[in-house]
Amino acid sequence: MNLNETLPICIAGNWRLGQGDRYATLYPATGEPVAYLNAANLADVEEAIQGADKAFRTSGWAQKKPHERAVVLYRVAQLIRERSEDLAQLQRLDNGKPISETRALVASAAATFQFFAAACETLEETITPMRGDNLTMSVYEPMGVVAAITPWNSPIASEAQKMAPALAAGNAVVVKPAEVTPLAALELAKICIEAGVPAGMISVLPGKGSVIGDAITVHPLVKRVSFTGGTTTGKHIAHIAADKMMPVSLELGGKSPTMVFEDADLDHAVAGVLYGIFSSSGESCIAGSRLFVAHGIYDTFMERLAAGAAALRVGDPTDERTQLGPLITSRHRESIESYVALGVDEGGHIRTGGVRPTGSIYDRGYFYTPTIIEGVRNDQRICQEEIFGPVLVAMPFEDENDLIEQANDSVYALAAGVWTRDYKKAWRFARAVQAGNVWINTYKQFSISTPFGGWRDSGLGREKGRLGILQYMEQKSLYWGM
Ligand code: NAD
Repeated sequence: MNLNETLPICIAGNWRLGQGDRYATLYPATGEPVAYLNAANLADVEEAIQGADKAFRTSGWAQKKPHERAVVLYRVAQLIRERSEDLAQLQRLDNGKPISETRALVASAAATFQFFAAACETLEETITPMRGDNLTMSVYEPMGVVAAITPWNSPIASEAQKMAPALAAGNAVVVKPAEVTPLAALELAKICIEAGVPAGMISVLPGKGSVIGDAITVHPLVKRVSFTGGTTTGKHIAHIAADKMMPVSLELGGKSPTMVFEDADLDHAVAGVLYGIFSSSGESCIAGSRLFVAHGIYDTFMERLAAGAAALRVGDPTDERTQLGPLITSRHRESIESYVALGVDEGGHIRTGGVRPTGSIYDRGYFYTPTIIEGVRNDQRICQEEIFGPVLVAMPFEDENDLIEQANDSVYALAAGVWTRDYKKAWRFARAVQAGNVWINTYKQFSISTPFGGWRDSGLGREKGRLGILQYMEQKSLYWGM
């Protein structure tokens, strides 16, 4: 990618400048421009979707045998691996994550393409004897043009999670990356086309969500939207989908509880809780942002946790040892600061953090220290609203029944953590907590083969997992007369 020239965008495989407003993406560690591009406008959206629909009908991708599509997708995985360092550096510039994290995300994007290549070629269609003498078959067919709308916090991984199964299923994909982080999606599109996906099957349309994302969602030729982002936007998309009778999957926000019991392995739990909230600077839907610690170990645990948080290395994303990079934008940092102030207004006190670090790179980028707030109640706004930053609220608990009530008292239900050596207790709490994903004596560990998604305001539908490909297919039952 030539960052010295205005970047072209991808309109049904046609690389040209967008016709919308010109803007710069900024490196969050310094606030300096990384790339210039013109956003898509509504005419670009129309051209991309019409082109995608035409490619879906005429390029032959949908008609290929699953194992033929798989060969191309394995090649995508291979190309991602061959270019992994360049992609990791690009993603670092795109959203400021530490290089260790962007390398992991690039590896996960490659693994995702490999996994869905395998899922595609091993997908079984079922033949069942009908009650009576006839034969019935259930087959799967691609939907047509599908849209992938993604947020800024884990760009290449989010896009791979949608593009890989959508393409594996035989669809054309229109990607709408977050306005501030379009680079990885553009590069991924290039790789897919180079690997052999017919060019028209892929579009990447950077631009404002309320204009470009909306226009894609309402378009009658778009047969499915896979969305990852905030709950308010997700609900808006769900309303449009209801009007169109269009399937959607929504991966939304969270305010995930982590529960640490007296018998937990404390070294392990301290490290896990720190990682759960502060990796990715807390800009993570599954961040373990509400901590409940057993009363008997609360003081000891919090002392160790606060010392651990204060020792985390906040800084230059190019440094391999950096644990927290900058936040995505200066506006987002202001929003986090206003939440910390709210926590204090609600009676909380800051145990550690709560400030911008100063000096050298810190003065230019959007850095913030890992922050822990104590002395608040679960029903207060600071404990109920998603902050999406490095801010943890911590509360002691005494009664286990009350604990589970508090843990479940949230509009969100995306993830939860349980730390205990007692496997029966772990089982009991993992089953009782309402969440799409529960980690037991670990946190934020992923597997592409395990379905991921949220309950309630955290979303609808599941990504990943072998059957994730079926989200991008229609099922048809055939009845044979004998
Ligand atoms: P956002 O909802 O503002 O934006 C997400 C995407 O939707 C962007 O591409 C944006 O341009 C687009 N968009 C905005 N308005 C739109 C509209 N009216 N129609 C169509 N598209 C529109 O979210 P964000 O600030 O980019 O991301 C942060 C949120 O994402 C957090 O709430 C976080 O929890 C959530 N998230 C969830 C998951 C998950 O898997 N559950 C993963 C990552 C992030």
